[in-house]
Amino acid sequence: MDISVVIPLFNEAESLPELYAWIKRVMERESFSYEVIFVNDGSTDASWEVICGLHEKDAAVKGIKFRRNYGKSPALYCGFKEAQGDVVITMDADLQDSPDEIPALYRMIREDGYDLVSGFKQNRKQGDPLSKTIPTKLFNATARKVSGIHNLHDFNCGLKAYRKDVIKNIEVYGEMHRYIPYLAKNAGFDRIGEKPVHHQARQYGKSKFMGWNRFVNGYLDLITLWFLSTFGKKPMHVFGFLGSIMFFLGFVAVIIIGGMKIYALSSGTPARLITDTPYFYIALTMMILGTQFFLTGFVADLVSRSSASRNDYQIEDEV
Ligand code: UDP
Ligand code: MG
Repeated sequence: MDISVVIPLFNEAESLPELYAWIKRVMERESFSYEVIFVNDGSTDASWEVICGLHEKDAAVKGIKFRRNYGKSPALYCGFKEAQGDVVITMDADLQDSPDEIPALYRMIREDGYDLVSGFKQNRKQGDPLSKTIPTKLFNATARKVSGIHNLHDFNCGLKAYRKDVIKNIEVYGEMHRYIPYLAKNAGFDRIGEKPVHHQARQYGKSKFMGWNRFVNGYLDLITLWFLSTFGKKPMHVFGFLGSIMFFLGFVAVIIIGGMKIYALSSGTPARLITDTPYFYIALTMMILGTQFFLTGFVADLVSRSSASRNDYQIEDEV
């Protein structure tokens, strides 16, 4: 099979028939063999009935129905598990992403050798308020820096194409759908490209992602990913290092303070308590914090030693 289209959706019943017809038109024009996997993420509207109706008429349509709303990442995860095509395309269900982009994306993977191609909503003026576009710009700039994928303008674009290996070897969870290119890069798929795509205003229903708090969570996720990719398999290297440095500085400070005290005693200056100087408390705190960091490192190493992913490596080929 050439292409699997994976579509996560939450309350998008009005858009689905149109989206399906459009995808089918494109696929038949290019004579691709394909499947469309709708993942119904706990919709409370008629989305599931619509999907069942489409499935009855066309075996290329598959549906997965969550019992409740889990989020876009879990929906993608389950769609990816199901997908069989050589190239997997994800798109939003709201008709904002155009199926007309599919053939070009497919060719970039098959012919130009990309592992992952992300859409870039260059003309995203329509419909989106400033409270969405400004944080999005900031978000992308940070994601580019942290991930080291400098050529992506739009990490969060729903329209993306993947070589099958990529989606079978990464695990999207939580709200990590924003960082799939980073996940892919960490797994060793580093031929990551971008294609400017058309992006339209929403016709039906409303956006499921609004407000600022998702950016706070987005940044926390980014920090987690960065930490996992850098120290995930060797936490002691960061905590042990920090802990040792702090303890060492504290220890040296204590020696100096103690030495000054002894010197003061022997030279007969009026007696002062060692606790009279603030440096004593700073040194003490540093030694305590240093020990804490060190112990955290041990505990983190124990945890990672017993975790199921401790020996998770990407093996590309064996003969
Ligand atoms: N979506 C989902 N589960 C959720 C929220 C959203 O599957 O909990 C789907 C939604 O139906 C759409 C896609 O994720 O197909 C992108 O959502 P939306 O269009 O609301 O985001 P926006 O384009 O406004 O960023
Ligand atoms: Mg949308």
